[in-house]
Amino acid sequence: MGKQDLDVVVIGAGFGGMYMLHRLRKMGLRARAYEVGDDVGGTWYWNRYPGARVDVESMQYSYQFDEELQQEWEWSEKYSPQPEILRYAQHVAERFDLRKDIQFNTRVTAAHFDDANEDWLITTDRGEQVRARHFVLAVGCLSSFNVPDIPGINDFAGDSYYTGKWPHKPVDFSGQRVAVIGTGSSAMQSSPEIAKQASALTVFQRTANFSIPAQNRPQDPDYVAYVKANYPELRAKAKTIYGGVVDEFGTAKALETPIEEIHKDLEARWQKGGLTFLGGFTDMLTDRQANEIAAEFAKNKIRSIVKDPKTAEMLCPKNIIGGKRLCVDTEYFAMYNHPHVNLLDVQETPIERITAKGIVRGGVEHEFDSIVYATGYDAITGSYLRIDIRGRNGVELKDHWDAGPRTYLGLMVSGFPNMFMVTGPGSPSVLTNMLPSIEISVEWITDAIADMRAEDKKLCQARPEAEAEWVAHVNEVASKSLRSTVKSWYIGANIPGKPSVFMPYLGGQPAYLAKCQEVVANGYEGFDLT
Ligand code: NAP
Repeated sequence: MGKQDLDVVVIGAGFGGMYMLHRLRKMGLRARAYEVGDDVGGTWYWNRYPGARVDVESMQYSYQFDEELQQEWEWSEKYSPQPEILRYAQHVAERFDLRKDIQFNTRVTAAHFDDANEDWLITTDRGEQVRARHFVLAVGCLSSFNVPDIPGINDFAGDSYYTGKWPHKPVDFSGQRVAVIGTGSSAMQSSPEIAKQASALTVFQRTANFSIPAQNRPQDPDYVAYVKANYPELRAKAKTIYGGVVDEFGTAKALETPIEEIHKDLEARWQKGGLTFLGGFTDMLTDRQANEIAAEFAKNKIRSIVKDPKTAEMLCPKNIIGGKRLCVDTEYFAMYNHPHVNLLDVQETPIERITAKGIVRGGVEHEFDSIVYATGYDAITGSYLRIDIRGRNGVELKDHWDAGPRTYLGLMVSGFPNMFMVTGPGSPSVLTNMLPSIEISVEWITDAIADMRAEDKKLCQARPEAEAEWVAHVNEVASKSLRSTVKSWYIGANIPGKPSVFMPYLGGQPAYLAKCQEVVANGYEGFDLT
């Protein structure tokens, strides 16, 4: 058996890859991360579009693994803007001297398990090859940007922008006629900012989306002092909450509550802002009637904000609320009251093609100076499947996942020994506060590697039956939620030909964490350590 160049190769230097590298180095392992970008930050490195900001409050959307770090860092706003989150990632990289073990501007193109050598052979787009005992994918859930399949997309003579791959220099739209395609979170955050500069903004909407106002504001110093004085308790409490975010949640069912009280709760949550709009009652995402009450409330808000009734109706979603991920916006709906902002439906009258001058819809060519594609991601599995990953006996990951992702705990895949995933498919990931979920994954993986080394085990692999059971459980939990009934990126519906499977685990962070801990307590139940 040949020797390995490294103990661990990590792919990605976002929040997952950075923490992974930090833990591996503390364990004394030889580890290197490969990153496509020229710096750390992942999502927050790429998403530099105007208005980009987090929609989980920053005091909680941050690392907790180092008490000094969480005490020293100052977040300026309730929901901090992208440049500040990127600075935080850079600060972490400096504080823990991470960059020396990150190779930037490098894409890993292939990772093949070598059956004879029992290690991974990793190939990059620079033609390098390295061998490592372990291989960790910290590739992010929303990092493979979806370039829509619209005829003529390359013919446009003006400037094209993708929210998920925004230029590093600020873009000035002053005096321009701008098109935004898409009405998800990225479009809802960027459009109001673009509208402030553009002479005309046209938003192309395929599916109307629900959005709750952010009610963003500068940090309240008293709140910051309270959180910092109580960080360990608050972080521990967050681990007991479904989404991993401390907030106020109700325990009653909407269907057993008088309608006035439901409306009072929804109004209070609308005024407070943010993602926990549906958190007052336990049946909002399991009971259609309960959901309808909240949906109607949110639609009436749109009708009260948007002055033109026709535009307001177009903006009112037809779906259940919370089926697609809720958006959190600042002045998105109010933006349509400006005479230079226009909304076009492309559900009934789709975009036909892009031309040198603009966008053709319904036989009419609309001329633009710039087009912004806020068209989402090949979510959750996209970033795995664009790497040529092969496990035992040359089996390709894309074949193993041809009917949808199959994992054990979102951490490992049977037949792919020593390949670990940070917040992989089948883990709660995007349904929860990402930073704590990343920490749970990273800590589980690094502890497993430490246990393997302590017991002189070379390989860890998920048993096929454990994987099958977990996949069945993930599907069963999903089937009980209204969320699985909606065509969303959670089920791959935004990417033509993608298998329709609810990819994240809907059981919540506490249940997931308990399962991960139980598996370890039972001697890595469902895994073979050899
Ligand atoms: P998205 O939610 O998938 O939205 C993409 C939009 O583009 C949808 O409105 C989609 O319409 C539309 N679209 C796609 N292809 C199209 C086509 N060919 N023609 C017309 N319209 C097309 O993507 P996103 O806005 O980037 O958000 C993705 C996720 O990232 C969010 O749900 C959230 O989890 C995360 N995110 C978070 C933040 C934050 O924390 N603040 C900000 C941005 C994103 P359909 O709905 O009809 O498919």
